[in-house]
Amino acid sequence: MRRITLFGATGSVGQSAIDLIARDDTAYDVVALTGGRNVRQLAADARRLNADLAVTCYPECYNELKDLLAGTHVEVAAGPEAVAQAAARPVDWALSAIVGAAGLVPGLEALAHGTTLALANKESLVTAGPLLLGRAKAHGATVLPVDSEHSAVFQALVGEHMAAVERVIITASGGAFRDWPIEKLATATLAQASSHPNWDMGQRITIDSASMFNKAMELIETKEFFNVSPDMIEVLVHRESLIHAMVGFNDGALMAHVGPPDMRHAIGYALHWPERKHLPVERLDLAKIGALTFEAPDHARYPALGIAKRVMNEGGLSGAVFNAAKERALDGFIAGEIGFLDMSHVVAATLDKMSLDGGLQNAAITLDNVLETDRLARIYAGEAFSQLG
Ligand code: NAD
Ligand code: MG
Repeated sequence: MRRITLFGATGSVGQSAIDLIARDDTAYDVVALTGGRNVRQLAADARRLNADLAVTCYPECYNELKDLLAGTHVEVAAGPEAVAQAAARPVDWALSAIVGAAGLVPGLEALAHGTTLALANKESLVTAGPLLLGRAKAHGATVLPVDSEHSAVFQALVGEHMAAVERVIITASGGAFRDWPIEKLATATLAQASSHPNWDMGQRITIDSASMFNKAMELIETKEFFNVSPDMIEVLVHRESLIHAMVGFNDGALMAHVGPPDMRHAIGYALHWPERKHLPVERLDLAKIGALTFEAPDHARYPALGIAKRVMNEGGLSGAVFNAAKERALDGFIAGEIGFLDMSHVVAATLDKMSLDGGLQNAAITLDNVLETDRLARIYAGEAFSQLG
């Protein structure tokens, strides 16, 4: 039996992973499940999958989780440290599906124990890619991409040499507002930004898809994970979300990954890697689909893409600033403090301020530097709210 742990088990990606794992309970020994406030879901899954440990990242949720698991053998813990400690329990495979920079420390901890890490948490690559991948290398641990575009690139690269790669194209649906007049974007509400045309995901990544901050993060994620230069990475708007990414080679060939918009494919690929196994996803009927469409992204509509270019070129700790400012701006939009278009202004202003403060490009990407940069960037991003025009 393969021992597995799921970080962020109660979220959209976590639940898709559980859907796959629960279909074959003779194959997996579930060691730990972690979640947040949804302790009912966490407790139900811990019981059903017979986990050794259930952890909520919120100390105030401890008693409720403990009560829900009374009479079982499931150990209960709470708090961010307990989430990171869960990563020290030996397993063969762990899923990193926490949302936000909070996924970084548990991911680092899992890699330090040599665990194969299936990475949905793109924020840890954006914030501290060299630190995360360096940790993996130092401990002989494998990181497997779970973001659908990056899983697609990874699959297109099987058996290929990176030296033959000319470009990497990641696709974008265009998000909730792809057909809105640009003038209307400033008025976009939380409810409008929280519905995705093709994918069913957590609220934060859904809003990030509408602003294309999600694609901006994925550009940086591509650079970090595949170690390709920023000018080799392109975004292509593809409304149908059936081609997830393409790799262009030096002989002009494009290898495209085509599949349904269902995260169980990318999660399942990482779960069974290096093999392929049957997955319960839709089989595409391309004759019925008929046509696939492609458009260049409109940078005026999606300023986040230009900000990502800047971050990729600056490197160093600018990814940590970008991610933290984006998270703070998103909190502000969700709380009704700032408008939809203000998010990109806040992120750009925070990058400006922290670049001036010095040395973002050249600073060492240590955990201490990353956490301090993250903390400061959230403060500066919050201050930028009051300076919006
Ligand atoms: P979600 O909001 O549905 O779930 C997030 C999970 O993280 C929950 O289990 C929650 O309890 C936990 N969590 C939240 N804050 C935490 C904290 N501070 N500490 C510890 N745990 C915390 O999110 P999601 O949509 O499943 O996305 C998870 C990650 O996967 C994100 O990084 C996202 O960008 C990435 N991703 C998601 C999808 C998707 O289809 N949803 C696709 C590609 C990549
Ligand atoms: Mg993606």
